[in-house]
Amino acid sequence: MEGMAGAGEMPAWLAALGIEPGDVDRIVQTHLHSDHCGWLIKDDEGGLTFPNATVHVNEREVAYWSGDEVDAIAFNRGTTAPVRARLRAVADAGRLHTFDGELELSEEITVLPTPGHTPGHVSVVVASGGETAILAGDLLHHPVHVEHPHWLPSVDHDPAESVRSRERIAALAADRKAVILAPHFPIPTVVGVDRGPGGQVRTVVGHDTEDAT
Ligand SMILES: [Zn+2]
Repeated sequence: MEGMAGAGEMPAWLAALGIEPGDVDRIVQTHLHSDHCGWLIKDDEGGLTFPNATVHVNEREVAYWSGDEVDAIAFNRGTTAPVRARLRAVADAGRLHTFDGELELSEEITVLPTPGHTPGHVSVVVASGGETAILAGDLLHHPVHVEHPHWLPSVDHDPAESVRSRERIAALAADRKAVILAPHFPIPTVVGVDRGPGGQVRTVVGHDTEDAT
């Protein structure tokens, strides 16, 4: 889909890493906007792209896309039917796992609620080897959102809640000197975060992103 860095290339990138679709055992949906869940099923036949994967979705997100509230955002209209079809295919296969609050997938991977963009939006914190990466979905659409959390994309369901979530994740990233990855960032879709001399959250200019490309 337009606007997504490297859109349409996920299977090829996974294959380049030696990962076949059947090898994938967990998928975390940051949210269910149509440009983030297209690979749940194959468009040509409707089967699951990753047949052995458990798909983790916040229960507030499932409720949102199952009701009428989703149509209050113009951007969503016209996409609810395909999103629901994808979700239904996963559920019918017994592969849907819904959860509330935080979800710990392993000692190194934790899913945090970051609502606002959508009611059940979540972010994934990966902490390993003394480093932290935060996969923030659409909590941020551009690296500038780290230092300007009040700059709003027009598609946020609850702008005030979105700002609070953005501030919270930016502070977490700064305290851990983490990188934030978000799929709408320009390639390489990653930004480093730390605190400046006055303690303010700032993006790291010249952060080494080679390993993240
Ligand atoms: Zn979105």
